[in-house]
Amino acid sequence: MRKIYIFMILVLFSGCMPLHQQYLEEGRMPEKNIKIGLSIDTNKLEVIPNGVYDIYSGKDKDITASLENGVTYGIGVYEGSRVVISKLKIFDNIIYLKAQNEDSTININGKNYRGNLYVSIQIGKNKFRVVNELDIEKYLYGVICKEISSSWPKESIKAQAVAARTYALKNIGRHKNQWFDLCDTTHCQVYGGLDSENPETNKIIDATRGEVLTYDGELAHIFYHGNCGGYTESVTNVWTSTTYVPYLKGRRCSYCKGGFKYDWEAYLSYDTMTNKLNNTGHKIDEVKSVKIKSFTHSGRVKELSFRGEKGSIQLSGYEFREIMGYNLINSTKFEINNKKDGIKIIGTGSGHGVGMCQIGAKVMAEKGNTYLDILDFYFPGTKVELWTEIEAV
Ligand SMILES: [Zn+2]
Ligand SMILES: [Zn+2]
Repeated sequence: MRKIYIFMILVLFSGCMPLHQQYLEEGRMPEKNIKIGLSIDTNKLEVIPNGVYDIYSGKDKDITASLENGVTYGIGVYEGSRVVISKLKIFDNIIYLKAQNEDSTININGKNYRGNLYVSIQIGKNKFRVVNELDIEKYLYGVICKEISSSWPKESIKAQAVAARTYALKNIGRHKNQWFDLCDTTHCQVYGGLDSENPETNKIIDATRGEVLTYDGELAHIFYHGNCGGYTESVTNVWTSTTYVPYLKGRRCSYCKGGFKYDWEAYLSYDTMTNKLNNTGHKIDEVKSVKIKSFTHSGRVKELSFRGEKGSIQLSGYEFREIMGYNLINSTKFEINNKKDGIKIIGTGSGHGVGMCQIGAKVMAEKGNTYLDILDFYFPGTKVELWTEIEAV
């Protein structure tokens, strides 16, 4: 009953007052923090707060000291396991830098971040683990412009915002054994902090505040990719361990045709393939020819065989892409021509092909579709709801 009620509100309000606005006015939109592991591979940090940051160290619940606005602090590793802020003579296994004001930012080795930081040492590595803790909506500010361009039409940015928010909430704790929720690379979602924000894009993200994609009352499984090459892929063909998800089955997409990376070509010599296969544990004497053995329903390569001087080996399309390089082989939607010294690869699309086709979403928006239309096209059968309501169910 409650779900029907939410859905009806969405329908009723989609044309006038935004749903998040109504909920905000009712005080029903609490903040939710997320912890992002930053790709900082060093044992030396330099931080400059823009605002005052209180320092909490160890198990102490009291503030040890504060970082002053605009002052540069060096942070180092002491005896392999302790964090030291030299200027303040603070030593501890973990320090927590908490912004006094929610608009404060902190520059860390030249990059700026909103929110708070946990600094600790990766045991046995003599390197820092820096975790950025911030409100999930502000995290999205630092994600969307890394995933798509801020110049894209508004409705495609809104679709990406709902998709990225849903992904983040669904995957909270993905890196919990490293003490954070998500990393800042393509493994989770690319996050660039304050430096990758765009004020106009932030406003568009705000227009979807709290909205997530759901299926059957739960957060949906979200996947997206650059360009599907004309047909999205069923999730079970990419991650074979995944159970069937009704809204992640392949479907025809005519929107991305001719767009960025729709058509591509690559060339791989037999020598290169022989080396790359052997270097990744696939023993073959010398590749002489390559043959595609089967395709998935969406036209992606399921299996290929490599014939060598003595014997042959088989690989899945995804293993092939991983071994030869994601940048060279943009997708597994390709055909091959055997040449004298190697193979010519003629492909379409980029990425795994599951879920939302980002170029397709852009073109859908250009043609006048709303973000709800876009999400419904790529995740058919799902609904847009507020995460606060989902968590309350
Ligand atoms: Zn990750
Ligand atoms: Zn597409």
